[in-house]
Amino acid sequence: VIELGQPKRSVVTTCAYCGVGCSFKAELNGDQLVRMVPYKQGKANHGHSCVKGRFAYGYAEHRDRILKPMIRDRIDEPWREVEWDEALAFAANRLKGLQEKFGRQSIGVITSSRCTNEESYLVQKLARAVFLNNNTDTCARVCHSPTGYGLGKTYGTSAGTQDFDSVDHCDVMMIIGANPTDAHPVFASRMKKRVREGAKVIVVDPRRIDMVRSTHIEAAHHLPLRPGTNVAVVTAMAHVIVTEGLYDEAFIRARCDWGEFQHYVDFVRDPRHSPEAIEALTRVPAADLRAAARLYATGGNAAIYYGLGVTEHSQGSTTVMGIANLAMLTGNIGREGVGVNPLRGQNNVQGSCDMGSFPHELPGYRHVKLPEVRAIYEKAWGVEIDPEPGLRIPNMLDAAVEGSFKGLYCQGEDILQSDPDTHHVAAGLAAMDCVIVHDLFLNETANYAHVFLPGSTFLEKDGTFTNAERRINRVRKVMAPKNGYEDWEVTQLLANAMGADWHYTHPAQIMDEIAATTPSFAGVSFDLLDEKGSVQWPCNATAPEGTPMMHVDHFVSGKGHFIVTEYLATDERAGPRFPLLLTTGRILSQYNVGAQTRRTENVVWHPEDVLEIHPHDAEVRGVNDGDWVRLASRAGETTLRAKITDRVAPGVVYTTFHHPSTQANVVTTDFSDWATNCPEYKVTAVQVSPSNGP
Ligand code: SF4
Repeated sequence: VIELGQPKRSVVTTCAYCGVGCSFKAELNGDQLVRMVPYKQGKANHGHSCVKGRFAYGYAEHRDRILKPMIRDRIDEPWREVEWDEALAFAANRLKGLQEKFGRQSIGVITSSRCTNEESYLVQKLARAVFLNNNTDTCARVCHSPTGYGLGKTYGTSAGTQDFDSVDHCDVMMIIGANPTDAHPVFASRMKKRVREGAKVIVVDPRRIDMVRSTHIEAAHHLPLRPGTNVAVVTAMAHVIVTEGLYDEAFIRARCDWGEFQHYVDFVRDPRHSPEAIEALTRVPAADLRAAARLYATGGNAAIYYGLGVTEHSQGSTTVMGIANLAMLTGNIGREGVGVNPLRGQNNVQGSCDMGSFPHELPGYRHVKLPEVRAIYEKAWGVEIDPEPGLRIPNMLDAAVEGSFKGLYCQGEDILQSDPDTHHVAAGLAAMDCVIVHDLFLNETANYAHVFLPGSTFLEKDGTFTNAERRINRVRKVMAPKNGYEDWEVTQLLANAMGADWHYTHPAQIMDEIAATTPSFAGVSFDLLDEKGSVQWPCNATAPEGTPMMHVDHFVSGKGHFIVTEYLATDERAGPRFPLLLTTGRILSQYNVGAQTRRTENVVWHPEDVLEIHPHDAEVRGVNDGDWVRLASRAGETTLRAKITDRVAPGVVYTTFHHPSTQANVVTTDFSDWATNCPEYKVTAVQVSPSNGP
């Protein structure tokens, strides 16, 4: 037992779990962290927090943390603990050797949404300025990449349109494919407060989530759609709005491309898009859908909040564009209480995308094909930038299986547990000759690694995270890194071991480089953040105080673009062999693959993933509550306990993916979004049968 004593000093920093980005005072006695206190001046949380941010930081001290670098020649050999110099030289020599033998494109990086902006920036710079390719991707690939595509096509930027405070002016909130109570708890509390003040709610979700059944609120409309039919539901809402004349013609004429609007209207008017025509497909009662559409169009300020239940589909990008269409159709853009708000999952998934982690975009969402953009970085970095987009994560794995992709530097991401179709991920990793895992723990991916570089926690580093409302928050070092280096320093050491000559001495210098090369960050500096507390990008000469609300007078793209959103059924269909549809999600007390929350003693509940199954589906299978069941798909199978509940509809089952003992992604498939390759986690045809246990 450690005697913590009374705190003597405090450091203000930012939670490293979800995209709400709550500010905390880390209170210390000497070097000992005594407690995390929600920070009243925090602009994202105003002194509130959830259980994870407040209590789930014990993993930083967990005995599982690896603090010394390790290497091995082959993955069937035991790890050998070495000094940093030897590990970095081993990694650099392997990567260079692979490029010499298999070509420049044979290696790549994965940046982390858990790390700071400055760390993500350096990892993509490692790919572009040292590897000399664009083989850089981020775990946003498996969550919000369709947001980038869909909002980029319609509004000109992937950013959420509002700040969190905007919800206080909202009269109708449409929550689609998101479960804020579990995934964005502090913001969910603000939503519920607004509902208690009179706002109406539309929930579009296959499950009766807490926002529907909460004792505090009565959702006006729950549309319990069949997994995979988002596009049909959103287009049917547009059909009602158009055919009943509920659209905002003045807004559309002033702000949007009128020709595209007319084309779109012709499309949505078609009777095949009516609520009645799609009722059998979506299982949403037509009358309920009509009522929801009327409420959204006529109920006052209407805001859409959406999550991974929108994006993680084969038509994820199409649904994002459909949602953007709805907001333009009704003029719900550019003022308080409205907008389109992607609820970003991880603490810095917004920032990871902003920093150019995608293989086709340099920082600030500028395509690598644009010579004028490449010229900025060629001048700043003194190298020639590859004009061709690089490989996405699934492409890297496919290329590894085929033999052309050989080396990967993976920072802060456990792709074996978190990415879909686990067997394929394992095959890709096993085929590589140099896998470098840079992380806190020996995660599942590390089973296939040749180099393990110890990572630092958010308590041990300086930098910034950007939350779901584009707010850049400071992360401040609370204690010295137990492994010896902050993560940005490790990336710099690796780059220099490969021949680069980087000399950053503090993340503030990295932010200065970001500001000098990225127009939307041009006004950002650590001095400004320390003065203001936080700032929302774009922050530049035009908006020196930052930008709480986007698209006020005009869209980033000039005119808003209506895009036709044709529904195409996913190829993943229920059938005689796999008659149920599995959808996946999260619970409040655990976080993603659970690397941190499972190693924090405060979090003792929800010790395992369970399978939610409707009473009817359980009964016909002879399954009782708490029984072990076998969950099987065409991709694989796993075993977990059943939880019988009518939160899921008949024909639908649901589980989380927090525990490696379950490996829920063994059953998810390789189908993905047509535009971005974001995996279709939310629809998997499965069978459930009784089991004797694992
Ligand atoms: Fe951390 Fe999110 Fe909880 Fe806030 S709501 S304390 S950011 S996990």
